[in-house]
Amino acid sequence: MTFLRGERLAKSYIISRGWWQKEEIQAVHDVSLDLDLDIEAGKNVGLVGESGSGKSTLVRLLSRLERPSRGCLHYRGKEISTLPEKQLTSFRRQVQIIFQDAAASLNPRHPAEKILAEPLRNYFPAFSRKERRDKIDQVLQQVGLSPEDRKRYPHEFSGGQQRRLAIARAVIVNPFLVICDEATSGLDVSLQGQLLNLFLDLGEKFGVHYLLVSHDLPAVRYLCQRVVVMYAGRIVEDLPANRLDASLHPYTRALLKSEPRLEGSFSPQFLPGEPPDSSAYPAGCPFHPRCPERIEICAREQPFLKEISARHRAACHLAGKQ
Ligand code: SF4
Repeated sequence: MTFLRGERLAKSYIISRGWWQKEEIQAVHDVSLDLDLDIEAGKNVGLVGESGSGKSTLVRLLSRLERPSRGCLHYRGKEISTLPEKQLTSFRRQVQIIFQDAAASLNPRHPAEKILAEPLRNYFPAFSRKERRDKIDQVLQQVGLSPEDRKRYPHEFSGGQQRRLAIARAVIVNPFLVICDEATSGLDVSLQGQLLNLFLDLGEKFGVHYLLVSHDLPAVRYLCQRVVVMYAGRIVEDLPANRLDASLHPYTRALLKSEPRLEGSFSPQFLPGEPPDSSAYPAGCPFHPRCPERIEICAREQPFLKEISARHRAACHLAGKQ
């Protein structure tokens, strides 16, 4: 059974522009996504795209931090998009999120032990005080901190350690899926590498799966077996990570060309232009004003996300015809 399934998810917001003017922003359109998270479909999934592509809104819908304007969310076969919060206990434990701004997500007035005890009290109320304490010490060690760190406050940790503490808070309740929303962004390469290795290690030891939301393709390649690419609030390509170099969507290929690489004399080529304004998407394919491969139909007709081969979907008029 699919762990998490978004079916035609859409999210729009009404925003004010001046005193009288209101405008509708379409952050996510018609997104259907199955997160099976098995070996065949890919245990870890990367969600990539430029900022403003709708990744963060999609994460908020998949984690039920927000309700969709249209469409459904299924968790282990059950529709949960409109369920009240008190019926989401199992979902809340199984789906944890780590945000980029770890410092802001940790209560500055609480020491590490209190930060870690809170989710245990919520989801494992039968634990004794000793069981909670042992579990906290064990998880601190598992994320590369030490039991002596239990008394320290968030501001006493470095940026990298704060992220480790946020990871500890996520994994302490034995989740099935951890959503990492730009969780390695803003760190230097060596710290990023350490965190990615920590994710892999925790994944292997505890069966944690990841949805890594990132604009950093090398990080996604390292951790994930499947890559979902978003542009203008839609999925434009969904393919196995080991087939990225055979991607069929010009936007995915443009992202790959802008990816920094260590080997050879490769110099990244950045995609010119900006993503479209979410209140006024262009007609036809939303990527056509920037697409180096556009053809006549692209400005008129929007391409649908179609299955090209097993576990490979793309939304481009040229996909499958090259
Ligand atoms: Fe480019 Fe046309 Fe494909 Fe859109 S549909 S990505 S404009 S070729």
